[in-house]
Amino acid sequence: MKILSSTPAWDAAPPEVWHDWQLRRLRDYLSHRVLPFSAHYRQLFKEHDLAVQDILSLEDWANAPFTSKSDLTVPRDQQRDFVLMPAEAQLSREWSVIWNALRHGRAAAKEALEEEFRPVMLTSTTGRSSDPVPFLYTKHDLANLDITGRRLMECGRSQRDFRHVNAFPFAPHLAFWQTHHAGLGFGTFMVSTGGGKSLGTEGNINLIDRIQPDVLIGMPTFMYHLLREAVEKGKHWPNIKRVVLGGEKVAEGLRARLVNLVHELGSEKVSIISTYGFTEAKMAFPECPTESGASGFHLSPDLALIELVDPRTGSPVPAGYPGEIVFTPLDARGTVVLRYRTGDIAEGGMTWSRCPHCGRTCPRLLGPISRVSEVRELHLDKVKGTLVNFNILEHLLDDQKGVAAWQIELCKRHDDPLEVDELILHVAPEPGMNADDLEQRIHRRFAEVTEIHPNAIHLHDLPDMRERLGIGRLLKEVKLLDRRKQNNPTGSLRTRD
Ligand SMILES: [Zn+2]
Repeated sequence: MKILSSTPAWDAAPPEVWHDWQLRRLRDYLSHRVLPFSAHYRQLFKEHDLAVQDILSLEDWANAPFTSKSDLTVPRDQQRDFVLMPAEAQLSREWSVIWNALRHGRAAAKEALEEEFRPVMLTSTTGRSSDPVPFLYTKHDLANLDITGRRLMECGRSQRDFRHVNAFPFAPHLAFWQTHHAGLGFGTFMVSTGGGKSLGTEGNINLIDRIQPDVLIGMPTFMYHLLREAVEKGKHWPNIKRVVLGGEKVAEGLRARLVNLVHELGSEKVSIISTYGFTEAKMAFPECPTESGASGFHLSPDLALIELVDPRTGSPVPAGYPGEIVFTPLDARGTVVLRYRTGDIAEGGMTWSRCPHCGRTCPRLLGPISRVSEVRELHLDKVKGTLVNFNILEHLLDDQKGVAAWQIELCKRHDDPLEVDELILHVAPEPGMNADDLEQRIHRRFAEVTEIHPNAIHLHDLPDMRERLGIGRLLKEVKLLDRRKQNNPTGSLRTRD
């Protein structure tokens, strides 16, 4: 879209510049790309009697309807309604097309349109419960993936002469492709190993041994597993300067453990950098390296408009307050969703203040990021249900000293569907931990933080635990295993969204 003459520098322009720019870009994008070419949004805007002329401020935009996961889990032919598909007749009215045809000829104009609109790739969501939803990319989107990839590299203070290892699984998922395009966009050396699934832990370790990379990129659980094994094998990897994590969220406790492991591998100075991305965004947002703590995720205000809303009411939250992340692309082609409700909460809110670590002025999402829907009802006695926030339990366990890996299993007592719910905690202790000691500490911590306690704590060794969690086998590890449903076809499980 060459409608706006100049785009401010993504990480240097002040907030007031962006405020006006994003509104203008949103209006242009809706009028020239989304509404003419997206069957879904054309219909939705009509149903809501909404027109671009009505959107005079970003506050007006906050009244536009949301898109949710459920809108996308529809039959395939309806999913196509989210793809920008121009008809030739509509396109010939486009000023830029006419201009192109005059200047470069018809063939060149046709080629430009193909690049902008023809889907050439897809990634898909990794829902545990629902069918995967495909997101189509055109070459235009791949160019943007290069741009956001380069920003990941710049924000992470990588250097072109660094060597990178991409250990995300080979899969049609954003994490792998964003990383691949980060290497291309930045113009640097990167080896993709495919993670544990394709080469095995051993294969990854051998490859890393030969390459001696400066930057390791992958899923947090796999990175932890890999580095641990490397330490056990007595490897020497003194070049590692960054460990970049994506695909799932990162606990504060894990960062410290990764730093220690890298130190043991012989590297003195390493930063653990986390990224936040999701299929629907078709991009990921980086942290920058810090001396301590997390910088927040640096957003690309030229490519996306991000809002935080109250997950119950859907109203925007005041600046700095936690809220559900709502995403609108400003330059996407292929599959496009507007005001997409991610179901993710930015607990620290969103800020436009200058990043104290790198000095960038782009907006930042401050974590930790938790899921909206992880409040579940447990029937711990026959009297009434208890709402349990599993995000809190997750933070508790991730930060618990002595716990190397864990899983919560929800089941029915004696596997009897009519019985009460039970919470079994599976734990792999850190080496050298006293088991009784650890159990006591976990019980104490549960009592301090929640009104529930595990009915039992089962200890496992790490390989057993990795098997339970599906590490290397599943893309997302199963940290909360809810077995109540399979014993209880009527389903006492209720999620509160
Ligand atoms: Zn920063």
